[in-house]
Amino acid sequence: MARKLSRRSQQRIAKNLALLEAINTLADSISEEAITDLVRRDAIGIGHDGLPTNSMPEFSSGGGFGGSSTETAALRGLPGSKGGADDWSKIKNKQSNSDVVRNQLKKIENNLQNAHKALKEASFEINNIKKKTEEIKGRQASASCDICGLYSAQKSGWCIKDYEEWIEDGRPDRTKYAMWRRQDKNSEGMILVTRKPKARS
Ligand SMILES: [Zn+2]
Repeated sequence: MARKLSRRSQQRIAKNLALLEAINTLADSISEEAITDLVRRDAIGIGHDGLPTNSMPEFSSGGGFGGSSTETAALRGLPGSKGGADDWSKIKNKQSNSDVVRNQLKKIENNLQNAHKALKEASFEINNIKKKTEEIKGRQASASCDICGLYSAQKSGWCIKDYEEWIEDGRPDRTKYAMWRRQDKNSEGMILVTRKPKARS
């Protein structure tokens, strides 16, 4: 049976599980709404770059904006989003603000990609180890050497060691060779193959 884990190991497990929980909580805290809002802000920023306009065409051109109150509120958060657009400083202000949004969005996207990559690697690594362990266990459980019964059967039902010994002995009849090596007995306790079977010429 498995040995009881040390206090230190148990703390290590708890720490990793807490990390996983924190990752889930953080991922859940990023909403589709928030992402959509940022991308929309960025898109509008692009639309107004270098345009000395006195209006927000996107609002009237049916670009899908100005619908919900949340969107309007979010857009109002951008300086210069209404009125006084002939004021160059305001346009400049608006442009730099859209740059800020664009950079923030880029940073967020980079961080999301990094997090995804890191989690993917951790998951891949864990599954890989699990798979290998199961493979080894499966191989060990599947078959042991027909001669010694000690090592796993890796070559024609025998372990490498016994297989090589058989070759050194001149590849005699396999069945008789195994019987001789195992010292198989009949029901009366007589050894069935008393001498090493002859090497095949
Ligand atoms: Zn063996």
